[in-house]
Amino acid sequence: MSGKRTVKANLPTKTCLVCQRPFTWRKKWSRVWDEVLYCSDACRGRRQQKSPPVAASPDSG
Ligand SMILES: [Zn+2]
Repeated sequence: MSGKRTVKANLPTKTCLVCQRPFTWRKKWSRVWDEVLYCSDACRGRRQQKSPPVAASPDSG
């Protein structure tokens, strides 16, 4: 890999519970980062295929 580390911002990362792929912090998650478990709405949808609708949604707002 490259010798110099040129990281623009030291953003936190998580691993998606559905696709098991790492994803990086996004601005839209700034207020719900602790609750974010999936890399995208698609993965979140897959996770909740056979689950009843949740009362609280981190996307509200
Ligand atoms: Zn995912």
